[in-house]
Amino acid sequence: MSATPKLEQKATFQDGQQLGPRISPGRIGFDFDGVIADTAEAFIRIACEQYDHCAIRLEEITRFEVEECLDMDEGLVEQIFSQILHDSLGSGLLPMPGAVPVLEELSDHGQITIITARPLADPVHRWLEHHLPVRVRDQTQVIAMGDHDDKLRHIHRLELSHFIDDREATCIQLAEAGVRSILFSQPWNRSQHALPRVRDWDDIRALCL
Ligand SMILES: [Mg+2]
Repeated sequence: MSATPKLEQKATFQDGQQLGPRISPGRIGFDFDGVIADTAEAFIRIACEQYDHCAIRLEEITRFEVEECLDMDEGLVEQIFSQILHDSLGSGLLPMPGAVPVLEELSDHGQITIITARPLADPVHRWLEHHLPVRVRDQTQVIAMGDHDDKLRHIHRLELSHFIDDREATCIQLAEAGVRSILFSQPWNRSQHALPRVRDWDDIRALCL
């Protein structure tokens, strides 16, 4: 047992890098797709079940722009993502492993903020209603603004200090603007960029609690 107050402990990232004191749960923001929700699993499953593209493996999705790394028609890629965005619950979109219990724990310490580039917030709300207990949902705000490059404005307005996203370009943009951005490791963001990374929700928990 340590007598050290939590705020003086150091948060450690996947690569061993340390970044100041533990992150206050109410001051960290989360992207939705690829961080809270396992959007790649839904994409791969729908591609197989509904469109007979059954050979896609997660590790082959090495670009955020999926059509650039898979042998798939761009229109079909768009169609599948559109299904997921418009009916996240009906498309069977699952939480990333560990996301729900860690969000539950974090909500005991502050408001949960989700900022997504999706244009529609309602499917996210319905998904959260299904997957999170009422107590956690009441502590969760969702901002959907429809633009991958417009998260900074909302992060500043909400006075968040940190943001977790799976899109490398977003993390770089936020870091350049002074937000401590953290990449949620996925096959499409494995470049050598020296951004702090987390592997999973256990890592996120360790940064905050
Ligand atoms: Mg994302």
